[in-house]
Amino acid sequence: MLKLFMRSFRGVAQLVEQRSPKPCVASSSLATPATKYNGLSMAKKRRYRWFRIIGFVLFFMFGLVNLGMFLVVMILEDERYIASLKPEIVDEQAPTIVLNGASETKVLVNSKYEEPGAEVFDNRSEPELKIEGEVNTSITGDYVIKYSAIDEVGNEAEATRKVSVIEPYRIIYLTFDDGPGQYTAELLDILKKYNIHATFFVTGAGSDELLKREYEEGHAIGLHTFSHNYSYIYTSSDAFWADLIRVQERVEAATGYKSFLMRFPGGSSNTVSRRYDGRSRIMTTLTREAGERGFTYFDWNITSGDAGETTSTDVIVENVIYQLKEGSSIVLQHDIKGFSVAAVERIIQYGLENGYTFMKLDATSPTAHHPVNN
Ligand code: ZN
Repeated sequence: MLKLFMRSFRGVAQLVEQRSPKPCVASSSLATPATKYNGLSMAKKRRYRWFRIIGFVLFFMFGLVNLGMFLVVMILEDERYIASLKPEIVDEQAPTIVLNGASETKVLVNSKYEEPGAEVFDNRSEPELKIEGEVNTSITGDYVIKYSAIDEVGNEAEATRKVSVIEPYRIIYLTFDDGPGQYTAELLDILKKYNIHATFFVTGAGSDELLKREYEEGHAIGLHTFSHNYSYIYTSSDAFWADLIRVQERVEAATGYKSFLMRFPGGSSNTVSRRYDGRSRIMTTLTREAGERGFTYFDWNITSGDAGETTSTDVIVENVIYQLKEGSSIVLQHDIKGFSVAAVERIIQYGLENGYTFMKLDATSPTAHHPVNN
């Protein structure tokens, strides 16, 4: 191949020579007879050598370019072939983001914001949830938390939650003792309707299903002893804590949540305990031990009157409304009493219409401790 090319190139060189005869050849041959070689002058030979070199270079260059183009075409064809094997995915449906909890929520300044998170649903894949934004609970104001998710083909979904850090002004903590009971489900429905979270101080009564529902719907669960039996729990510190731990375990078994919020039956100011404690001043001991055991106990600063003073729903509503505070109101009610549960919707409506915010208790909330009398 190479030889053939060289021969043909030599032929081309000779052709060029024939076509452009130099008239000065004769005279130059006279001037330099010694340089004659194979019938050609040295100058011509040099010129032919250059033709040959350029020919080689062109030959290799074109060869490499052709080879390169061939490889590129092969690679492109191959990729197209591989791509043609993959079925094309048509997915125009973006993921759905469902927030856990409300899209607007409030936390008190200097309390703790716990991110409730969100769930992502998609028709084809399981996209990861991305949560951006922070809530600085030491500075009042509105904060936005952004939730986003992208599916396999790039469809994007977004959701936001507004978190307001507020001063403890006109805050109502609805609290319900002695349940769960037969009116608890109805109460949960009312609270859900207004997107309000309350606090339940529960006992061994009622169903685990209701406990679970209270927890899953975002309410706070506190402990109120398992038996609520004064003549047992207030006989000794050991008896009290055994009974309290029993309900703590009950709640944890039903909800997975271990509560350290509690309320003493009769409140910390009760004097009933004197009847059973053998003059040991048990409330003084128990209120101290609560803190030592990591519990936060709550009393109340508004009595609804449902513990014996009245059975009238109207009176319950009035009692609560007239006692509302400018700061924090911790309202005591019982969800085992239908006439008291029947008052809740009107209390909520009044509160919302008058600039109150309903919140649930946590370990940073005001405790409304009573003076201990025993
Ligand atoms: Zn009680």
